[in-house]
Amino acid sequence: MTDVHRLYDVLDAAAEATPDAPALSVDGTTWSFQELRARADALSAFLSARCSPGARVALLAHNRLEYVAAYYGVPRDGRILVPLNQRLHAREWAEQIVRCGAELVLGEPDLLDRLAAEGDLPPLHDIAGLPSDAPPPEREAESDPADVAWLMFTSGTTGRPKGVRLTHRSLLAGIRVTASGRPVQQGDVFCTPFPLCHVAGYQVLLHHLYGRHAVVMRRYTPSALVEAARRHGVTNLSLAPTMLEDLLAHLSDAPEALDTLRGSLRMIGYGSAPIPVPLLRRTDEMLGCGLNQGYGMTELSGNATFLSPADHRAAITTRPELAASAGRPPEGVEIAVVAADGTRRPPGGTGEVIVKSAQVADGYWEDPEATAESLTGGWFRTGDAGRIDADGYLHLVDRVKDVIITGGENVSSREVEDVLRTVPGVGEVAVIGLPDPRWGQTVCAVIVPDGARPSEDDLRAACRARLAGFKTPRRIEYAGALPRTATGKIRKATLRAGYTNDGPESDNPV
Ligand code: ATP
Ligand code: MG
Repeated sequence: MTDVHRLYDVLDAAAEATPDAPALSVDGTTWSFQELRARADALSAFLSARCSPGARVALLAHNRLEYVAAYYGVPRDGRILVPLNQRLHAREWAEQIVRCGAELVLGEPDLLDRLAAEGDLPPLHDIAGLPSDAPPPEREAESDPADVAWLMFTSGTTGRPKGVRLTHRSLLAGIRVTASGRPVQQGDVFCTPFPLCHVAGYQVLLHHLYGRHAVVMRRYTPSALVEAARRHGVTNLSLAPTMLEDLLAHLSDAPEALDTLRGSLRMIGYGSAPIPVPLLRRTDEMLGCGLNQGYGMTELSGNATFLSPADHRAAITTRPELAASAGRPPEGVEIAVVAADGTRRPPGGTGEVIVKSAQVADGYWEDPEATAESLTGGWFRTGDAGRIDADGYLHLVDRVKDVIITGGENVSSREVEDVLRTVPGVGEVAVIGLPDPRWGQTVCAVIVPDGARPSEDDLRAACRARLAGFKTPRRIEYAGALPRTATGKIRKATLRAGYTNDGPESDNPV
Protein backbone atom coordinates (compact mmCIF):
# COMPACT_ATOMS: atom_id res chain seq x y z
CA MET A 1 0.00 0.00 0.00
CA THR A 2 3.00 2.23 0.50
CA ASP A 3 3.55 2.52 -3.27
CA VAL A 4 0.08 3.84 -3.89
CA HIS A 5 0.42 7.52 -4.73
CA ARG A 6 -1.96 7.89 -7.67
CA LEU A 7 -5.45 6.56 -8.25
CA TYR A 8 -4.22 4.23 -11.01
CA ASP A 9 -1.78 2.64 -8.54
CA VAL A 10 -4.78 1.31 -6.56
CA LEU A 11 -5.98 -0.62 -9.60
CA ASP A 12 -2.51 -1.61 -10.76
CA ALA A 13 -1.59 -3.08 -7.38
CA ALA A 14 -4.81 -5.11 -7.20
CA ALA A 15 -4.43 -6.29 -10.82
CA GLU A 16 -0.89 -7.50 -10.03
CA ALA A 17 -1.87 -9.18 -6.75
CA THR A 18 -5.18 -10.80 -7.82
CA PRO A 19 -5.63 -10.39 -11.60
CA ASP A 20 -8.61 -12.72 -11.89
CA ALA A 21 -10.49 -11.69 -8.76
CA PRO A 22 -13.78 -9.87 -9.38
CA ALA A 23 -13.24 -6.12 -9.27
CA LEU A 24 -16.50 -4.64 -10.44
CA SER A 25 -20.04 -5.70 -11.29
CA VAL A 26 -22.84 -3.65 -12.82
CA ASP A 27 -26.20 -5.19 -13.77
CA GLY A 28 -24.86 -8.74 -13.60
CA THR A 29 -21.69 -8.24 -15.71
CA THR A 30 -18.41 -8.59 -13.85
CA TRP A 31 -14.91 -7.42 -14.74
CA SER A 32 -11.83 -8.82 -13.02
CA PHE A 33 -9.07 -6.49 -11.85
CA GLN A 34 -7.11 -7.45 -14.95
CA GLU A 35 -10.01 -6.59 -17.25
CA LEU A 36 -10.69 -3.33 -15.46
CA ARG A 37 -7.02 -2.34 -15.77
CA ALA A 38 -7.03 -3.22 -19.48
CA ARG A 39 -10.08 -0.95 -19.96
CA ALA A 40 -8.47 1.88 -18.02
CA ASP A 41 -5.29 1.50 -20.12
CA ALA A 42 -7.26 1.46 -23.37
CA LEU A 43 -9.13 4.59 -22.36
CA SER A 44 -5.88 6.31 -21.51
CA ALA A 45 -4.45 5.36 -24.94
CA PHE A 46 -7.58 6.67 -26.64
CA LEU A 47 -7.29 9.99 -24.83
CA SER A 48 -3.54 10.41 -25.43
CA ALA A 49 -4.25 10.42 -29.15
CA ARG A 50 -6.91 13.13 -28.78
CA CYS A 51 -6.19 15.51 -25.92
CA SER A 52 -3.32 17.30 -24.36
CA PRO A 53 -1.76 16.34 -21.03
CA GLY A 54 -3.71 18.05 -18.25
CA ALA A 55 -6.87 18.13 -20.39
CA ARG A 56 -10.25 17.98 -18.73
CA VAL A 57 -12.38 15.06 -19.94
CA ALA A 58 -16.05 15.31 -19.05
CA LEU A 59 -18.13 12.19 -18.43
CA LEU A 60 -21.90 12.14 -18.84
CA ALA A 61 -23.30 8.70 -18.04
CA HIS A 62 -25.40 6.67 -15.68
CA ASN A 63 -23.57 4.14 -13.53
CA ARG A 64 -21.84 1.56 -15.74
CA LEU A 65 -18.63 -0.50 -15.82
CA GLU A 66 -16.80 2.02 -18.03
CA TYR A 67 -17.46 4.76 -15.47
CA VAL A 68 -15.05 3.11 -13.05
CA ALA A 69 -12.53 2.50 -15.86
CA ALA A 70 -12.67 6.29 -16.37
CA TYR A 71 -12.14 6.92 -12.63
CA TYR A 72 -8.70 5.32 -13.09
CA GLY A 73 -7.98 5.67 -16.81
CA VAL A 74 -8.58 9.40 -17.32
CA PRO A 75 -6.15 10.56 -14.58
CA ARG A 76 -3.69 7.73 -15.35
CA ASP A 77 -1.50 10.08 -17.40
CA GLY A 78 -2.28 13.48 -15.95
CA ARG A 79 -5.71 14.19 -17.45
CA ILE A 80 -8.62 15.32 -15.29
CA LEU A 81 -11.94 13.50 -15.09
CA VAL A 82 -14.97 15.79 -14.82
CA PRO A 83 -18.05 13.70 -13.93
CA LEU A 84 -21.26 15.53 -14.81
CA ASN A 85 -24.42 14.86 -12.86
CA GLN A 86 -26.74 13.11 -15.32
CA ARG A 87 -29.78 14.51 -13.52
CA LEU A 88 -28.95 18.15 -14.27
CA HIS A 89 -30.46 20.12 -17.15
CA ALA A 90 -28.54 19.96 -20.47
CA ARG A 91 -27.94 23.69 -20.14
CA GLU A 92 -26.18 23.06 -16.83
CA TRP A 93 -23.99 20.30 -18.37
CA ALA A 94 -22.94 22.68 -21.13
CA GLU A 95 -22.19 25.42 -18.63
CA GLN A 96 -19.94 23.11 -16.57
CA ILE A 97 -18.18 21.84 -19.70
CA VAL A 98 -17.40 25.41 -20.72
CA ARG A 99 -16.42 26.42 -17.19
CA CYS A 100 -13.75 23.73 -16.94
CA GLY A 101 -12.70 23.98 -20.61
CA ALA A 102 -13.21 20.25 -21.29
CA GLU A 103 -11.48 19.06 -24.50
CA LEU A 104 -13.65 16.00 -24.92
CA VAL A 105 -16.88 14.53 -23.56
CA LEU A 106 -17.44 10.81 -22.99
CA GLY A 107 -20.97 9.64 -22.41
CA GLU A 108 -24.05 7.58 -23.15
CA PRO A 109 -25.76 8.33 -26.49
CA ASP A 110 -29.14 9.45 -25.11
CA LEU A 111 -27.51 11.93 -22.74
CA LEU A 112 -25.04 13.11 -25.39
CA ASP A 113 -27.93 13.75 -27.80
CA ARG A 114 -29.52 16.06 -25.27
CA LEU A 115 -26.20 17.77 -24.67
CA ALA A 116 -25.54 18.21 -28.41
CA ALA A 117 -28.64 20.40 -28.69
CA GLU A 118 -26.86 22.98 -26.50
CA GLY A 119 -24.59 24.07 -29.36
CA ASP A 120 -20.88 24.74 -29.44
CA LEU A 121 -19.19 21.88 -27.61
CA PRO A 122 -16.00 19.79 -27.70
CA PRO A 123 -16.12 16.37 -29.46
CA LEU A 124 -18.58 13.88 -27.94
CA HIS A 125 -17.77 10.13 -27.79
CA ASP A 126 -19.98 7.17 -26.93
CA ILE A 127 -18.27 5.61 -23.92
CA ALA A 128 -19.46 2.12 -24.87
CA GLY A 129 -17.86 2.38 -28.31
CA LEU A 130 -14.28 2.90 -27.14
CA PRO A 131 -11.58 0.31 -27.86
CA SER A 132 -11.24 -2.18 -25.04
CA ASP A 133 -7.91 -3.82 -25.77
CA ALA A 134 -5.45 -1.15 -26.92
CA PRO A 135 -1.92 -1.71 -25.63
CA PRO A 136 -1.20 0.41 -22.57
CA PRO A 137 0.27 3.74 -23.62
CA GLU A 138 3.75 4.69 -22.59
CA ARG A 139 3.51 7.01 -19.65
CA GLU A 140 3.75 10.42 -21.30
CA ALA A 141 4.40 12.28 -18.14
CA GLU A 142 4.45 10.74 -14.69
CA SER A 143 1.45 12.34 -12.99
CA ASP A 144 2.24 13.95 -9.69
CA PRO A 145 0.27 13.02 -6.54
CA ALA A 146 -0.49 16.74 -6.17
CA ASP A 147 -2.16 16.86 -9.63
CA VAL A 148 -5.92 17.17 -9.91
CA ALA A 149 -7.37 13.73 -10.73
CA TRP A 150 -11.11 14.45 -10.57
CA LEU A 151 -12.84 17.79 -10.90
CA MET A 152 -16.17 17.17 -9.18
CA PHE A 153 -19.01 19.61 -8.82
CA THR A 154 -20.78 20.07 -5.49
CA SER A 155 -24.51 19.42 -5.34
CA GLY A 156 -25.41 23.10 -5.62
CA THR A 157 -27.58 23.12 -2.51
CA THR A 158 -26.48 26.55 -1.31
CA GLY A 159 -25.71 28.20 -4.64
CA ARG A 160 -24.15 27.47 -8.03
CA PRO A 161 -22.31 24.09 -7.97
CA LYS A 162 -18.61 24.61 -7.24
CA GLY A 163 -15.92 22.70 -9.17
CA VAL A 164 -13.74 20.99 -6.57
CA ARG A 165 -10.09 20.19 -7.36
CA LEU A 166 -9.67 16.66 -6.00
CA THR A 167 -6.06 15.59 -6.27
CA HIS A 168 -4.63 12.06 -6.24
CA ARG A 169 -3.29 12.88 -2.80
CA SER A 170 -6.53 14.28 -1.33
CA LEU A 171 -8.58 11.36 -2.66
CA LEU A 172 -6.15 8.73 -1.39
CA ALA A 173 -6.09 10.51 1.99
CA GLY A 174 -9.92 10.47 2.00
CA ILE A 175 -9.86 6.74 1.23
CA ARG A 176 -7.46 6.08 4.11
CA VAL A 177 -9.56 8.15 6.51
CA THR A 178 -12.60 6.03 5.65
CA ALA A 179 -10.47 2.89 6.01
CA SER A 180 -9.94 3.97 9.65
CA GLY A 181 -13.49 5.11 10.35
CA ARG A 182 -15.25 2.31 8.47
CA PRO A 183 -12.71 -0.54 8.16
CA VAL A 184 -12.82 -2.94 5.20
CA GLN A 185 -12.65 -6.59 6.23
CA GLN A 186 -11.60 -9.89 4.76
CA GLY A 187 -14.27 -11.18 2.38
CA ASP A 188 -16.18 -7.92 2.13
CA VAL A 189 -18.29 -7.39 -0.98
CA PHE A 190 -19.36 -3.77 -1.30
CA CYS A 191 -22.48 -2.48 -3.04
CA THR A 192 -23.41 1.12 -3.81
CA PRO A 193 -26.46 2.55 -5.56
CA PHE A 194 -25.13 6.16 -5.48
CA PRO A 195 -24.52 7.89 -8.81
CA LEU A 196 -20.80 7.70 -9.53
CA CYS A 197 -20.77 11.40 -10.46
CA HIS A 198 -20.73 12.14 -6.72
CA VAL A 199 -17.71 11.91 -4.47
CA ALA A 200 -19.34 8.92 -2.70
CA GLY A 201 -17.90 6.88 -5.59
CA TYR A 202 -14.51 7.01 -3.84
CA GLN A 203 -15.73 4.02 -1.81
CA VAL A 204 -15.30 1.83 -4.90
CA LEU A 205 -11.59 2.73 -4.86
CA LEU A 206 -11.44 2.11 -1.11
CA HIS A 207 -12.59 -1.47 -1.64
CA HIS A 208 -10.23 -1.92 -4.57
CA LEU A 209 -7.37 -0.79 -2.36
CA TYR A 210 -8.06 -3.95 -0.35
CA GLY A 211 -8.59 -6.06 -3.46
CA ARG A 212 -12.33 -6.36 -2.76
CA HIS A 213 -15.25 -6.67 -5.16
CA ALA A 214 -17.44 -3.60 -5.72
CA VAL A 215 -20.99 -3.95 -7.02
CA VAL A 216 -22.36 -0.75 -8.50
CA MET A 217 -26.07 -0.45 -9.22
CA ARG A 218 -27.13 1.16 -12.44
CA ARG A 219 -30.16 2.60 -10.64
CA TYR A 220 -31.48 2.09 -7.14
CA THR A 221 -34.61 0.13 -6.49
CA PRO A 222 -34.99 -2.07 -3.41
CA SER A 223 -35.71 -5.17 -5.51
CA ALA A 224 -32.65 -4.58 -7.75
CA LEU A 225 -30.57 -4.21 -4.62
CA VAL A 226 -31.84 -7.50 -3.22
CA GLU A 227 -31.09 -9.16 -6.56
CA ALA A 228 -27.52 -7.77 -6.56
CA ALA A 229 -27.05 -8.93 -2.96
CA ARG A 230 -28.28 -12.44 -3.83
CA ARG A 231 -26.07 -12.69 -6.91
CA HIS A 232 -22.86 -11.36 -5.41
CA GLY A 233 -23.15 -12.08 -1.67
CA VAL A 234 -23.04 -8.39 -0.73
CA THR A 235 -21.75 -7.76 2.81
CA ASN A 236 -21.50 -3.93 2.85
CA LEU A 237 -24.05 -1.47 1.59
CA SER A 238 -23.80 2.27 1.14
CA LEU A 239 -27.19 4.01 1.35
CA ALA A 240 -28.90 7.30 2.17
CA PRO A 241 -31.44 7.09 5.03
CA THR A 242 -34.34 7.58 2.58
CA MET A 243 -33.13 4.62 0.49
CA LEU A 244 -32.91 2.52 3.65
CA GLU A 245 -36.50 3.45 4.51
CA ASP A 246 -37.65 2.25 1.05
CA LEU A 247 -35.60 -0.92 1.41
CA LEU A 248 -37.20 -1.84 4.75
CA ALA A 249 -40.68 -1.14 3.36
CA HIS A 250 -39.92 -3.55 0.51
CA LEU A 251 -38.46 -6.20 2.81
CA SER A 252 -41.42 -6.19 5.17
CA ASP A 253 -43.52 -7.74 2.35
CA ALA A 254 -40.76 -9.99 1.00
CA PRO A 255 -39.63 -12.61 3.55
CA GLU A 256 -37.25 -14.37 1.12
CA ALA A 257 -35.52 -11.12 0.24
CA LEU A 258 -35.23 -10.34 3.93
CA ASP A 259 -33.59 -13.73 4.52
CA THR A 260 -31.12 -13.06 1.69
CA LEU A 261 -30.01 -9.77 3.19
CA ARG A 262 -29.97 -11.01 6.78
CA GLY A 263 -27.77 -13.86 5.65
CA SER A 264 -25.07 -11.79 4.01
CA LEU A 265 -25.14 -8.17 5.24
CA ARG A 266 -22.50 -7.14 7.76
CA MET A 267 -22.63 -3.36 7.55
CA ILE A 268 -24.67 -0.48 6.17
CA GLY A 269 -22.73 2.75 5.73
CA TYR A 270 -24.94 5.79 5.26
CA GLY A 271 -24.48 9.52 4.99
CA SER A 272 -25.87 12.88 3.84
CA ALA A 273 -28.22 12.98 6.87
CA PRO A 274 -28.57 11.41 10.32
CA ILE A 275 -30.84 8.42 10.79
CA PRO A 276 -34.18 8.89 12.60
CA VAL A 277 -34.28 6.70 15.75
CA PRO A 278 -37.40 4.70 14.67
CA LEU A 279 -35.62 3.81 11.40
CA LEU A 280 -32.51 2.86 13.34
CA ARG A 281 -34.52 0.51 15.56
CA ARG A 282 -36.36 -1.07 12.64
CA THR A 283 -33.10 -1.62 10.75
CA ASP A 284 -31.63 -3.28 13.79
CA GLU A 285 -34.65 -5.53 14.31
CA MET A 286 -35.04 -6.52 10.67
CA LEU A 287 -31.47 -6.75 9.42
CA GLY A 288 -29.38 -6.98 12.59
CA CYS A 289 -26.28 -5.62 10.83
CA GLY A 290 -23.89 -2.87 11.91
CA LEU A 291 -24.50 0.75 10.95
CA ASN A 292 -21.90 3.40 10.27
CA GLN A 293 -22.71 7.02 9.48
CA GLY A 294 -20.24 9.21 7.59
CA TYR A 295 -20.26 13.00 7.45
CA GLY A 296 -18.44 14.46 4.52
CA MET A 297 -18.62 16.50 1.37
CA THR A 298 -17.11 16.86 -2.05
CA GLU A 299 -14.37 19.18 -0.75
CA LEU A 300 -13.29 16.52 1.78
CA SER A 301 -12.79 13.82 -0.88
CA GLY A 302 -15.32 11.77 1.08
CA ASN A 303 -16.05 11.51 4.79
CA ALA A 304 -14.25 13.05 7.76
CA THR A 305 -16.25 11.90 10.79
CA PHE A 306 -17.93 8.60 11.54
CA LEU A 307 -20.60 7.36 13.90
CA SER A 308 -19.47 3.78 14.56
CA PRO A 309 -21.51 0.59 14.92
CA ALA A 310 -20.83 0.72 18.70
CA ASP A 311 -22.21 4.29 18.78
CA HIS A 312 -25.34 3.10 16.98
CA ARG A 313 -25.73 0.25 19.48
CA ALA A 314 -25.48 2.81 22.31
CA ALA A 315 -28.06 4.99 20.52
CA ILE A 316 -30.50 2.04 20.46
CA THR A 317 -29.94 1.06 24.08
CA THR A 318 -28.92 3.93 26.35
CA ARG A 319 -28.09 7.12 24.43
CA PRO A 320 -30.75 7.92 21.77
CA GLU A 321 -29.29 11.44 21.37
CA LEU A 322 -26.20 9.86 19.76
CA ALA A 323 -28.28 8.93 16.70
CA ALA A 324 -28.49 12.64 15.83
CA SER A 325 -24.71 13.00 15.92
CA ALA A 326 -22.36 12.80 12.93
CA GLY A 327 -19.76 10.97 15.04
CA ARG A 328 -16.08 11.61 15.61
CA PRO A 329 -13.04 12.05 13.38
CA PRO A 330 -10.57 9.17 13.05
CA GLU A 331 -6.87 9.71 13.67
CA GLY A 332 -5.30 12.20 11.30
CA VAL A 333 -8.44 14.34 11.05
CA GLU A 334 -8.96 17.39 13.25
CA ILE A 335 -12.30 19.16 13.60
CA ALA A 336 -13.16 22.37 15.42
CA VAL A 337 -15.97 24.91 15.62
CA VAL A 338 -15.45 28.63 15.05
CA ALA A 339 -17.48 31.81 15.47
CA ALA A 340 -18.11 34.09 12.47
CA ASP A 341 -14.88 36.00 13.21
CA GLY A 342 -12.85 32.77 13.10
CA THR A 343 -12.23 32.42 16.85
CA ARG A 344 -12.58 28.95 18.38
CA ARG A 345 -15.73 28.05 20.23
CA PRO A 346 -15.45 26.22 23.56
CA PRO A 347 -16.80 22.61 23.72
CA GLY A 348 -20.56 22.68 23.29
CA GLY A 349 -20.53 26.08 21.55
CA THR A 350 -22.20 26.33 18.15
CA GLY A 351 -20.49 27.77 15.08
CA GLU A 352 -19.05 26.80 11.71
CA VAL A 353 -17.40 23.39 11.54
CA ILE A 354 -13.83 23.47 10.22
CA VAL A 355 -11.66 20.51 9.24
CA LYS A 356 -7.92 19.96 8.95
CA SER A 357 -6.88 16.82 7.12
CA ALA A 358 -4.83 15.67 4.12
CA GLN A 359 -8.15 14.83 2.45
CA VAL A 360 -9.08 18.50 1.97
CA ALA A 361 -9.25 19.35 -1.75
CA ASP A 362 -6.86 21.72 -3.43
CA GLY A 363 -9.53 24.46 -3.75
CA TYR A 364 -12.12 25.38 -6.34
CA TRP A 365 -11.55 25.34 -10.09
CA GLU A 366 -10.35 28.74 -11.32
CA ASP A 367 -11.91 30.50 -8.35
CA PRO A 368 -9.11 31.87 -6.17
CA GLU A 369 -11.55 34.00 -4.17
CA ALA A 370 -13.76 31.11 -3.11
CA THR A 371 -10.63 29.03 -2.46
CA ALA A 372 -9.12 31.71 -0.21
CA GLU A 373 -12.40 32.15 1.66
CA SER A 374 -12.75 28.46 2.42
CA LEU A 375 -9.12 27.57 3.17
CA THR A 376 -7.33 29.39 5.94
CA GLY A 377 -4.22 28.25 7.80
CA GLY A 378 -4.67 24.67 6.62
CA TRP A 379 -8.26 24.56 7.86
CA PHE A 380 -11.26 24.10 5.58
CA ARG A 381 -14.53 25.90 6.37
CA THR A 382 -17.31 23.42 5.72
CA GLY A 383 -20.24 25.84 5.58
CA ASP A 384 -22.02 23.59 8.09
CA ALA A 385 -23.02 24.86 11.52
CA GLY A 386 -22.55 22.48 14.43
CA ARG A 387 -21.14 21.86 17.88
CA ILE A 388 -18.74 19.34 19.35
CA ASP A 389 -19.78 17.84 22.69
CA ALA A 390 -17.52 17.03 25.63
CA ASP A 391 -16.93 13.49 24.29
CA GLY A 392 -15.79 14.84 20.92
CA TYR A 393 -18.97 13.97 18.98
CA LEU A 394 -19.96 16.36 16.23
CA HIS A 395 -23.60 17.48 16.13
CA LEU A 396 -24.64 19.27 12.95
CA VAL A 397 -27.20 21.99 13.43
CA ASP A 398 -27.74 23.55 10.02
CA ARG A 399 -26.00 24.98 7.00
CA VAL A 400 -24.35 28.24 8.08
CA LYS A 401 -26.23 30.02 5.28
CA ASP A 402 -29.55 28.63 6.53
CA VAL A 403 -29.21 29.59 10.19
CA ILE A 404 -31.78 32.33 10.89
CA ILE A 405 -30.87 35.26 13.12
CA THR A 406 -33.99 36.90 14.48
CA GLY A 407 -33.86 39.60 17.13
CA GLY A 408 -30.26 38.58 17.83
CA GLU A 409 -31.17 34.92 18.50
CA ASN A 410 -29.94 32.05 16.32
CA VAL A 411 -32.56 29.65 15.01
CA SER A 412 -31.66 26.37 13.36
CA SER A 413 -33.98 25.90 10.42
CA ARG A 414 -33.61 22.11 10.79
CA GLU A 415 -34.82 22.15 14.37
CA VAL A 416 -38.04 23.96 13.42
CA GLU A 417 -38.53 21.69 10.40
CA ASP A 418 -38.26 18.60 12.61
CA VAL A 419 -41.14 19.86 14.75
CA LEU A 420 -43.33 20.95 11.82
CA ARG A 421 -42.87 17.58 10.15
CA THR A 422 -44.75 15.93 13.04
CA VAL A 423 -47.95 17.94 12.30
CA PRO A 424 -50.58 15.88 10.39
CA GLY A 425 -50.97 17.12 6.81
CA VAL A 426 -47.38 18.35 6.46
CA GLY A 427 -45.83 16.60 3.48
CA GLU A 428 -42.64 18.58 3.03
CA VAL A 429 -41.36 21.60 4.89
CA ALA A 430 -38.59 24.15 4.58
CA VAL A 431 -37.90 26.85 7.16
CA ILE A 432 -36.11 29.97 5.94
CA GLY A 433 -35.18 33.41 7.23
CA LEU A 434 -36.69 36.40 5.40
CA PRO A 435 -35.55 40.01 5.77
CA ASP A 436 -37.47 41.88 8.46
CA PRO A 437 -37.05 45.56 9.31
CA ARG A 438 -37.57 45.05 13.03
CA TRP A 439 -36.01 41.62 13.76
CA GLY A 440 -33.32 41.46 11.08
CA GLN A 441 -34.81 38.20 9.87
CA THR A 442 -38.14 36.57 10.47
CA VAL A 443 -38.79 32.82 10.61
CA CYS A 444 -40.86 31.63 7.65
CA ALA A 445 -42.10 28.06 7.16
CA VAL A 446 -42.95 26.88 3.66
CA ILE A 447 -45.29 23.90 3.82
CA VAL A 448 -46.16 21.44 1.06
CA PRO A 449 -49.40 19.85 2.31
CA ASP A 450 -49.94 16.13 2.06
CA GLY A 451 -53.70 15.79 1.76
CA ALA A 452 -55.67 18.24 3.92
CA ARG A 453 -53.79 21.49 4.46
CA PRO A 454 -52.75 21.94 8.11
CA SER A 455 -53.93 25.25 9.60
CA GLU A 456 -51.52 28.02 10.57
CA ASP A 457 -52.83 27.73 14.16
CA ASP A 458 -52.00 24.01 14.34
CA LEU A 459 -48.53 24.56 12.90
CA ARG A 460 -47.74 27.35 15.36
CA ALA A 461 -49.20 25.44 18.31
CA ALA A 462 -46.91 22.47 17.58
CA CYS A 463 -43.89 24.80 17.58
CA ARG A 464 -44.94 26.63 20.73
CA ALA A 465 -45.34 23.32 22.55
CA ARG A 466 -41.74 22.29 21.87
CA LEU A 467 -39.66 25.32 20.95
CA ALA A 468 -38.76 28.77 22.26
CA GLY A 469 -41.22 31.48 21.16
CA PHE A 470 -38.73 33.23 18.85
CA LYS A 471 -38.35 30.00 16.84
CA THR A 472 -42.08 29.78 16.03
CA PRO A 473 -42.63 30.84 12.40
CA ARG A 474 -44.18 34.30 12.11
CA ARG A 475 -44.90 33.71 8.46
CA ILE A 476 -46.33 30.51 6.98
CA GLU A 477 -46.58 29.89 3.24
CA TYR A 478 -48.12 26.95 1.41
CA ALA A 479 -46.55 25.68 -1.80
CA GLY A 480 -47.11 22.90 -4.34
CA ALA A 481 -43.46 21.77 -4.32
CA LEU A 482 -40.05 22.85 -3.04
CA PRO A 483 -37.14 23.72 -5.35
CA ARG A 484 -34.60 20.90 -5.11
CA THR A 485 -31.16 20.06 -6.43
CA ALA A 486 -30.61 17.03 -8.64
CA THR A 487 -29.78 15.06 -5.50
CA GLY A 488 -33.01 16.06 -3.78
CA LYS A 489 -31.66 18.64 -1.33
CA ILE A 490 -33.83 21.74 -0.88
CA ARG A 491 -32.50 24.92 -2.51
CA LYS A 492 -33.18 27.39 0.24
CA ALA A 493 -31.48 30.31 -1.52
CA THR A 494 -33.98 29.98 -4.39
CA LEU A 495 -36.82 29.75 -1.92
CA ARG A 496 -35.64 32.82 0.03
CA ALA A 497 -35.26 34.84 -3.16
CA GLY A 498 -38.77 33.92 -4.24
CA TYR A 499 -40.47 35.00 -1.02
CA THR A 500 -38.32 38.10 -0.65
CA ASN A 501 -39.63 39.35 -3.98
CA ASP A 502 -43.17 38.65 -2.87
CA GLY A 503 -43.96 35.37 -4.49
CA PRO A 504 -42.12 32.09 -5.04
CA GLU A 505 -39.84 31.84 -8.08
CA SER A 506 -41.72 30.16 -10.87
CA ASP A 507 -38.71 29.04 -12.89
CA ASN A 508 -36.78 26.26 -11.22
CA PRO A 509 -34.78 24.45 -13.89
CA VAL A 510 -33.92 21.35 -11.82
P1 ATP B 1 -23.13 23.06 -2.29
O1 ATP B 1 -21.79 23.00 -1.62
O2 ATP B 1 -23.03 23.33 -3.75
O3 ATP B 1 -24.11 23.95 -1.60
P2 ATP B 1 -23.66 20.47 -1.06
O4 ATP B 1 -22.88 21.01 0.09
O5 ATP B 1 -25.03 19.93 -0.78
O6 ATP B 1 -23.77 21.57 -2.22
P3 ATP B 1 -22.18 17.99 -1.26
O7 ATP B 1 -20.72 18.16 -1.19
O8 ATP B 1 -22.74 16.92 -2.14
O9 ATP B 1 -22.80 19.34 -1.78
O10 ATP B 1 -22.82 17.72 0.17
C1 ATP B 1 -22.15 17.95 1.37
C2 ATP B 1 -23.10 18.42 2.45
O11 ATP B 1 -24.05 17.41 2.78
C3 ATP B 1 -22.41 18.73 3.76
O12 ATP B 1 -21.81 20.02 3.76
C4 ATP B 1 -23.54 18.60 4.77
O13 ATP B 1 -24.33 19.78 4.84
C5 ATP B 1 -24.40 17.48 4.17
N1 ATP B 1 -24.06 16.20 4.85
C6 ATP B 1 -23.18 15.27 4.44
N2 ATP B 1 -23.12 14.23 5.30
C7 ATP B 1 -23.99 14.51 6.30
C8 ATP B 1 -24.39 13.84 7.50
N3 ATP B 1 -23.88 12.66 7.83
N4 ATP B 1 -25.30 14.45 8.29
C9 ATP B 1 -25.83 15.65 7.95
N5 ATP B 1 -25.50 16.34 6.84
C10 ATP B 1 -24.59 15.79 6.02
MG1 MG C 1 -21.20 22.25 0.15
